[in-house]
Amino acid sequence: MNNTPEAKIRTREARHYFFRNPYSDMAFTRCPKCSAQTKIRKFCLVIHVEPRNLFTLNKSCRYCPNCDLIIVKKAELENLLHAICELAAPDSIGNDYFVFGTMDRKDWKRGQREEVSQREALSCSYPFKDVWIFEVRPAGWYPEGE
Ligand SMILES: [Zn+2]
Repeated sequence: MNNTPEAKIRTREARHYFFRNPYSDMAFTRCPKCSAQTKIRKFCLVIHVEPRNLFTLNKSCRYCPNCDLIIVKKAELENLLHAICELAAPDSIGNDYFVFGTMDRKDWKRGQREEVSQREALSCSYPFKDVWIFEVRPAGWYPEGE
């Protein structure tokens, strides 16, 4: 029997849209897509850090229920990742990372209590439906046609 570790991992169904907010001075108290007021909600984020670390963060995020959009500040995320890497994977500090999706709180809790393999953690994760990017232009006049 050939049971390769590379065999495709089945995750759960896709949930939520994600926006990594690169603007440290923009809190997005309103949704960049629909302008509704965003709420603060905790999500257990599943993050892959190169080359092969999988971390979960239980973090307060901005959330637009209309659009099902989670907004996380890039700087906050990177500070937290830096702290986790320092403890768990010092070689990976500052490496590229990828926010994969979310997981249920109960699965996240289990991961805090006991050893859960990356494979198992991924298999109870919900990948994002899509990652959105919003660009904010400073207020001002722009030439026609732009
Ligand atoms: Zn919205």
